[in-house]
Amino acid sequence: MTGNLLAASDILNSSHRILVFTGAGISTESGIPDFRGPDGLWSKVDPDDFTIGRYLSNPEIRKRGWRMHLDGELWGARAQIRPNAAHVAIADLWRAGRLSGVVTQNIDGLHQAAGVPDDHVAELHGNIRRSHCVDCGADWPTEEVLSWVEAGADDPTCPFCDGIVKTSTVMFGEALPMREWSAALVMASAAEAVLVVGSTLGVYPAAEIALDPARRGVPMVIVNLGRTDHDYLARVKIDGKAGDVLPAMVSRMVGRDA
Ligand code: NAD
Ligand code: ZN
Repeated sequence: MTGNLLAASDILNSSHRILVFTGAGISTESGIPDFRGPDGLWSKVDPDDFTIGRYLSNPEIRKRGWRMHLDGELWGARAQIRPNAAHVAIADLWRAGRLSGVVTQNIDGLHQAAGVPDDHVAELHGNIRRSHCVDCGADWPTEEVLSWVEAGADDPTCPFCDGIVKTSTVMFGEALPMREWSAALVMASAAEAVLVVGSTLGVYPAAEIALDPARRGVPMVIVNLGRTDHDYLARVKIDGKAGDVLPAMVSRMVGRDA
């Protein structure tokens, strides 16, 4: 193990309640692209297409979105995406009773798929597995809406009120879900250490959940490929792949051989 890895494990080991904060980088090894990396989504699509105003006003944007979900291009709306070793390591920490919770910017549901219960994961940007009607609020598994698209409804509408249907994810210009935000605040206030994985810490207000405890002196470990906007606040920064680093770190913490 490198010195950084040992130092990070020691910091986290001295805490009973670790807040885990994750971003798109933890899921790239599951085959879901991040936004800002070299193969990130922003190199293929226009970020402006992910604003709620455009989605509601432009049927072509909606059609393209559903088609990309159908083809599996966006965030694992379809079930074949699996958690990777980093998600599993975090679930091991949860099973060992070491977490105050997992706060994620991701919408892919992979923390739960790895075994962290739903009520211990705050999904700040919603999740892709559910979809809803923006007018009456009726909701369905996204898989069901995709079956309507497959059957020919390229811009599916609500069977009850004919409203626009949208995945239950937070687009630019939308508020964060209040319940998830409140849960994240509780997890952050209980934290004795913060572990950031695969995030540039550059998307607000989500990043504040990790940054606020760190500014109050709670030790923060960052595991990320490349720089983040807040490396200076980290007690230890490990520049590496989450799927390599996390299992080694967690094995040491929960007493198994790395
Ligand atoms: P980001 O795209 O800003 O940053 C991701 C960071 O992870 C980058 O610094 C990248 O270099 C790093 N990274 C990539 N692969 C890694 C790996 N294997 N191990 C460690 N680090 C790795 O992501 P963000 O800060 O999370 O913000 C982007 C926004 O995009 C979020 O708000 C999120 O909602 C959304 N998003 C979600 C998903 C998903 O659900 N999987 C995917 C793309 C984007
Ligand atoms: Zn409706």
